[in-house]
Amino acid sequence: MSDTSRAHALALDARDPLAPLRKRFRLPEGVVYLDGNSLGALPDDVPGALDDVVLRQWGVDLIRSWNDNDWWNAPTRVGAAIAPLIGAAEGQVVCGDSTSVQLFNALVAAVRLRPGRSVILTDPDTFPTDGYLADSVARLCGARVRRVPAGEAAAVLGGAEGADVAVAAYNHVDYRTGELRDLAGITRAAHDAGALALWDVCHTAGAVPIDADAHDLDFVVGCTYKYLSGGPGSPAFLYVARRLHDVFDPALTGWHGHQEPFAMEPGYRPADGIARARIGSPPILGMLALESAIGVFRETGMAAIRAKSLALTDLFIACVDELGLEVATPREHARRGSQVAVRHDEAHPIMAALIERGVIGDVRPPDILRFGFNALYVSYSDVVDAAAALGDVLASGSHRDPRFAVRATVT
Ligand SMILES: *Cc1c(COP(=O)(O)O)cnc(C)c1O
Repeated sequence: MSDTSRAHALALDARDPLAPLRKRFRLPEGVVYLDGNSLGALPDDVPGALDDVVLRQWGVDLIRSWNDNDWWNAPTRVGAAIAPLIGAAEGQVVCGDSTSVQLFNALVAAVRLRPGRSVILTDPDTFPTDGYLADSVARLCGARVRRVPAGEAAAVLGGAEGADVAVAAYNHVDYRTGELRDLAGITRAAHDAGALALWDVCHTAGAVPIDADAHDLDFVVGCTYKYLSGGPGSPAFLYVARRLHDVFDPALTGWHGHQEPFAMEPGYRPADGIARARIGSPPILGMLALESAIGVFRETGMAAIRAKSLALTDLFIACVDELGLEVATPREHARRGSQVAVRHDEAHPIMAALIERGVIGDVRPPDILRFGFNALYVSYSDVVDAAAALGDVLASGSHRDPRFAVRATVT
């Protein structure tokens, strides 16, 4: 049996090698923040960095900042800072635009790289934007979407249909249950079938090692406002394997991806390397806030982050078991991301009551309470405190108060 006492949690905190990094984030007093899988907490370095970007770089240096403060290279420079976090050697990651835009761009490129193949293979439970975009790309490219659960993808790729698959596009983690998918296995099966593999790592970037190069991934798309704490709407990133750079033909051939953007030529000539994946003017404020936010990752490594994340979710699962609730997240470490999903018919009012008590998570339909654990700033005592609050809400029935029946626009 795991020890779920607060005294034990405090002892774990005392010997946690990542505990000092908590001070690098601004967390309000009295809040247990378990929603870093939707919006990471504010890194302490970001306000000062933004102040400099806005007041000096924009306010004083003005247009000269594209050269003098190197705004021009921000997409590849910030991409290079993200690269080690996803196991990518230099020159394969670009930062910019939203996850949705990058997914669209990469999916079209993948389908174009496999002419004659007509299937985009994806999960029926994929994150909504991923599924919507796959459908649109299929319409645009004359392909069709085949929805196969991640657990069956390798078998379908290995069967007769595999020869018609252009790209297998999967989420590394199921955003509802927190289940970690078999990234290596599905990628291998896609390659054996002659298809490409595109991974959406929104729920693992900064929380789980990805090893993009080691697993021979083709395309990786991820957002940066979740575990990377880049801030609301911070730009996404795209990894394109080096072996594809010369043949990569994205949908969005914007002028920043041109060989010579300031030659202002009438025709598109793609840039070499990952710069070809640039589109248009990057959101400099958000991108430089992100650059400052991920500085904290230089002080630790993905292995240490993963080890603590698993220990935090182990402890939370043990606490939830004691409350007699149903855990939807797999118990095997190899199948678990960095969140714990708890099923309950009254998920929404329960979460609303928890948030009022300062324990912040979120809900996903139909019945999932989601608790995300960012190892950089969540402590073991946070875990037991959150579980105690959950137990109190359920025991007292306080979530049945009518004020918790009201739903906000964003859940
Ligand atoms: C958060 C998330 C997105 C978000 O896409 P945006 O374009 O940033 O809104 C997409 N896919 C997955 C799997 C996500 O978790």
